[in-house]
Amino acid sequence: MLEFDGLYKTYGDNAVLRGVGFAVPEGSMFGFCGANGAGKTTTMRIAMGLARADAGEVRWRGRPLDEAARRRIGYMPEERGLYPKMKVGEQVAYFARLHGLDTAAATRASDEWVDRLGLGERRGDRVEKLSLGNQQRVQLAAALVSRPEVLILDEPFSGLDPVGVDSLAEALLEQCRAGVPVLFSSHQLDLVERLCDSVGILARGRMVAAGTVEELRRREAGRLLRVVVP
Ligand code: ATP
Repeated sequence: MLEFDGLYKTYGDNAVLRGVGFAVPEGSMFGFCGANGAGKTTTMRIAMGLARADAGEVRWRGRPLDEAARRRIGYMPEERGLYPKMKVGEQVAYFARLHGLDTAAATRASDEWVDRLGLGERRGDRVEKLSLGNQQRVQLAAALVSRPEVLILDEPFSGLDPVGVDSLAEALLEQCRAGVPVLFSSHQLDLVERLCDSVGILARGRMVAAGTVEELRRREAGRLLRVVVP
């Protein structure tokens, strides 16, 4: 279980997170929804150690995340962190090495994931030559290449065409089936409904609803779902 427990974060006088808590069981997909500025990115950055919570913690399998545990998380940041001049294969191998694989293992893992995400023919192309959708696939390959125990993805579907959405969705479902908990933020309700076991809705730093999509629709929160996920 990946657990977010009582997270608080204030920037200046802006109370960005005000007690955010939810859990993502192993092998399930959690859709993290909410209007722009609700605090989704901040929540995920805290999990990754890129921002520090004022209070609360994030736990994986019952233990607070530390640097070693974070190396076992595949993370796709909102600002995509690719090097435009690197070749696709090199870029993915580079991320594998960051996660501790040696050069030979990193190259093998890169080859595998570049193929699995349908980028085999682009392996030798510079990242900057790729369409936005394909760059997103490179970013996902970078997140998957170290065989992460957990996936945390910030708006992974934004900017993808329908084919890109389907192949990304399939890759994430495959991870889920293998037991990986997947947390992703999105503004696309149709996708969240299609893919997620549960959904959490953040509004101004508070979790205002959480449950399965059906539960949220049935309850008052269905209204919220329509409001925050246009
Ligand atoms: P979006 O859907 O637009 O990405 P979000 O739900 O991910 O929104 P956050 O990016 O977490 O929201 O931002 C929440 C609030 O925190 C915003 O008001 C933002 O301006 C503020 N914020 C985030 N990071 C910082 C920072 N480093 N310094 C100051 N304010 C910040």
